[in-house]
Amino acid sequence: MSNSKIIQRDLSILWHPCTQMKDHETLPLIPIKRGEGVWLEDFEGKRYIDAISSWWVNLFGHANPRINAAVREQLEQLEHVIFAGFSHEPVIELSERLIQITPPDLTRCFYADNGSAAVEVALKMSFHYWRNQGQSQKTKFITLQDSYHGETLGALAVGDVALYKETYAPLLMETITAPSPAGCYAEKGESYENYARRQFEAMKALLEKHAHELAAVILEPLVQCAGGMRMYHPVYLSLLREACYQYNVHLIADEIAVGFGRTGTMFACEQADISADFLCLSKGLTAGYLPLSVVLTTDEVYQAFYDDYATLKAFLHSHSYTGNPLACKAALATLDIFAEDNVIENNRTLAKTMNEATRHLQDHPHVGEIRQQGMILAIEMVKNKAKREVYPWQERRGLRVYQYALEKGALLRPLGNVIYFMPPYVITSEQIQELAEIAQGGIESAIRE
Ligand code: PMP
Repeated sequence: MSNSKIIQRDLSILWHPCTQMKDHETLPLIPIKRGEGVWLEDFEGKRYIDAISSWWVNLFGHANPRINAAVREQLEQLEHVIFAGFSHEPVIELSERLIQITPPDLTRCFYADNGSAAVEVALKMSFHYWRNQGQSQKTKFITLQDSYHGETLGALAVGDVALYKETYAPLLMETITAPSPAGCYAEKGESYENYARRQFEAMKALLEKHAHELAAVILEPLVQCAGGMRMYHPVYLSLLREACYQYNVHLIADEIAVGFGRTGTMFACEQADISADFLCLSKGLTAGYLPLSVVLTTDEVYQAFYDDYATLKAFLHSHSYTGNPLACKAALATLDIFAEDNVIENNRTLAKTMNEATRHLQDHPHVGEIRQQGMILAIEMVKNKAKREVYPWQERRGLRVYQYALEKGALLRPLGNVIYFMPPYVITSEQIQELAEIAQGGIESAIRE
């Protein structure tokens, strides 16, 4: 089958996510027939390096033989079973292992099937915890400027990306937004650390003012991904952890995008030596194989729900596919690879290569900032470097980079004017080099006229 035939079939009946479908009148849809390692291959044999890990989920390449084998094995045993009143081994083993490798005090696992659902679980659990404790006035959430936590109404409400949120504002609960700690907003010459400390003062003031009505603060540790790969210093997390204890407010760490080695450590919270009251994980949890998410929480939270049925303190939240065994088995195979392959250490070398391959772009007249945190490297295109003036969004310059990269055989999907690499960990130095050249060519073609 040719690309065009399959595109025609798709466009006649499908509605794609995060897409103005009319764009496909001019922008080709890419039908993928197979994947292998970092490569995606279309129906005519053209190959693309998956530089963004298919929306940040893939860790060890497409069609990874070890994960394939694990899922196949599970398929012969049990594909799925209701998770209320029933259980199975993959979910128990996965939970034991997650509790072992995540920051301390997280001793309970509650599963869902995508990132947004995990965020909903964490928000509801936090609110419900306080209610069960007789503090039903604690109903509000603090979120960060530029944050992103998903698309369902609760998750959207605690996010701050106007493009996704504004239209639905009348449907969303009100939240309190603290100013960004991201270093890209720092004064010229000011360090990321200093800026994060300075910005924390505003967070602290909000905590002090609203503590009595606050359930939790939710944030993406170290990198605000969908908000433009905006990075901040870990000191912000340490200060926030302390303050949340002080003001009796939960901390929800959304590591859905940054967990599983993305930021250079297994979990981003490790870099600030903190733990959260709720840790949300998804995406890399199954290395991009199957939809699965989990919220880890503390014994203290768990105990607040543990009582006789008639007290109605139970957490009656559910999803049909909670704890799906196939997905859990893919996650176990993923953790095996981490344990056997020295992944975090090897990523350090890859991260260094990404840095070196793009360093020369720092002086490019239309590059405002290159920022990196482990296996995430972002290049911000600007109209005017000295003033750090961005291109108007209507010009869709990032889209030109996307199109250029596709032609050259790479899947780069900029966030507005921010081009980034977030590749599978099986990428090679040569492929990183190639991506850097494609990104540079993409920028040249995007800044024309
Ligand atoms: N939180 C963060 C930090 C994310 O990056 C995302 C997805 N990009 C989500 C939540 C939502 O996850 P999902 O798309 O699986 O609903």
